[in-house]
Amino acid sequence: MAAVRHYSNPLTCVQEVASVKWPKGEPICPRCGSKRNSFLKTRLMWKCLECKKQYSVKVGTIFEDSAIGLDKWLCAMWMLANCKNGVSSYEVGRALEVTQKTAWFMLHRIRYAQHHGTIDKMTGTVEADETFIGGAARFMHADKRAEKIHGRGPVGKAIVFGLLERETSTVRASVVGTRRKHHLHKQIRENVAPGAELNTDALPSYDDLNEYTHKVVDHAEKYVDGTVHTNRLENFWSLLKRTIKGTYVSVEPFHLFRYLDEQSFRYNERELTDAERFQKVLGSVAGKRLTWDNLTSQEVG
Ligand SMILES: [Zn+2]
Repeated sequence: MAAVRHYSNPLTCVQEVASVKWPKGEPICPRCGSKRNSFLKTRLMWKCLECKKQYSVKVGTIFEDSAIGLDKWLCAMWMLANCKNGVSSYEVGRALEVTQKTAWFMLHRIRYAQHHGTIDKMTGTVEADETFIGGAARFMHADKRAEKIHGRGPVGKAIVFGLLERETSTVRASVVGTRRKHHLHKQIRENVAPGAELNTDALPSYDDLNEYTHKVVDHAEKYVDGTVHTNRLENFWSLLKRTIKGTYVSVEPFHLFRYLDEQSFRYNERELTDAERFQKVLGSVAGKRLTWDNLTSQEVG
């Protein structure tokens, strides 16, 4: 409600987005790059004094091409950044008076903003583990249930692989094709610096990671062996599963990586206040656009 009140003033919305889009306080014309402009108060747009075209703060952001007002966008962003167990498109639709389909699209655009790849590899002690998501019969439609109910174990489930850097308690999670060696090793080598101490369970796929100090805790015997464990990652998995089961009811496997981004973001930024976390999401909107077409096609990654 605080967010709804705060963003009920359109000028406030434009100013906040402008302050992250143009941190130096100088709006730049997206067509000709000129900084000479005048602000049109009635339209909440800038007019370029060089090429004479008008532009809005939405250009080049995830809000571009959307008819939804920034007031609603920023409220949706606030909700997603701060609701611990996530927020469904139905809730956002009701709160913002948009259709569920529109709310779904908005939430996916915001998740896309939350996904920030980093070039830094993890160091120190790193927990690695994998888990199965989805496929539980009670969350499926009747026809799918009939088709899957006879399956055993991981049939119909997505496999999520996670890494947690213990010193900073930051998580990276992604969907992997299988639990076989080559899939897991690829993730580890891409994300963890050689020489790091790797803590895993006894899954044979973790064998032969010779550039790491590999320490194993066999879950058939115990869960903690001195400092060797994957407990923090297990904790992250339970948060993730609670979010997906409690809030999202059903997640298409193709979209699962966005939910992973969302949950990882909230986890990694848990020390921030609600306002700071929101600013962080807002800070990542510039330069990211996601259209309905590329959202629903397989190319997005
Ligand atoms: Zn211009």
